[in-house]
Amino acid sequence: MKAMLFETFGTPPTIATVPDPTPSEDGVVIAVAATGLCRSDWHGWMGHDPDIRLPHVPGHEFAGKVVATGKRVSRFHAGDRVTVPFVSGCGHCPECHSGNQQVCPDQFQPGFTHWGSFAEYVAIDFAETNLVALPEAVDDATAASLGCRFATSFRAVVDQARTAPGEWVAVHGCGGVGLSAIMIASSMGANVIAIDVFDDKLAFARDCGAVATINSRAVADTVEAVRQITKGGAHVSIDALGSPTTCFNSIKNLRRRGRHVQVGLMLGDHATPQIPMAQVIGHELEIYGSHGMQAWRYDAMMAMIETGKIAPQKLIGRKIALAEAIPALTAMDGSRDIGISVIDRF
Ligand SMILES: [Zn+2]
Ligand SMILES: [Zn+2]
Repeated sequence: MKAMLFETFGTPPTIATVPDPTPSEDGVVIAVAATGLCRSDWHGWMGHDPDIRLPHVPGHEFAGKVVATGKRVSRFHAGDRVTVPFVSGCGHCPECHSGNQQVCPDQFQPGFTHWGSFAEYVAIDFAETNLVALPEAVDDATAASLGCRFATSFRAVVDQARTAPGEWVAVHGCGGVGLSAIMIASSMGANVIAIDVFDDKLAFARDCGAVATINSRAVADTVEAVRQITKGGAHVSIDALGSPTTCFNSIKNLRRRGRHVQVGLMLGDHATPQIPMAQVIGHELEIYGSHGMQAWRYDAMMAMIETGKIAPQKLIGRKIALAEAIPALTAMDGSRDIGISVIDRF
């Protein structure tokens, strides 16, 4: 099969011909129909992810059709249209038994712990626990955009932050994660403030439901700007970018007993950012991470997509061929692209 392969970190990948995968006993092989390009692919390619062994095929958010199943897989069959959360739980450990497959210590991550979906085929382990059947109404490119950013944002806004109607939600960073969070929080009746450094991204954030925007380069103090709009601070704040500045601001701009959710990855030099811990204590702030979403929680998200309450397809930017994804990946840091790039030709 054709796949995007890199043999060293930080040097341009190539399109290589590699052996077709075969399913493990608990796994399936999926013919990839569409696969999204994400900032965590860039982190992986840069060598920021200790799970990656070289040579490596990236790609972790995708949709496709099952083409082969392992002997212990009975719930899914060749021809089924499926997607999978980027964190797939083993199904047998205490975390998985508690329903928290997203933090399974034996997790399978396509594109990180194993070869991923920037290829014609991808092998997925623990299929029975993690595969999600796709409704007819959700097309491949849309489904591909769910696996990482949209699902992680759904979990951040709905399950971790417990966002309620009428609350103020600040979203720092208007890339794929941020725009997803804005759309989801807004659909739940929250008042969302979008924060970024680019006016065109902020304009798109308004299209996605933000009621206010802050260009943090145009104001003296982003935290103060959030406090003024919300009359005292946000109930919920999300760092959707992942940087020491956005993380700090996202916690600092909370009102008393507010909830911060860290969704943007903090890797490499950014792994241990400064936190205003005195405020966390004195104001009883809650700090959460959001790391993917369990397959069983996709039902709620799919129902909202099918009824049109949320529209992840709106976040799809460019549809590109596998070879075009090489320059898109290597230029991802500081990318000005609006929306999510999806590979749909191999
Ligand atoms: Zn597990
Ligand atoms: Zn991702």
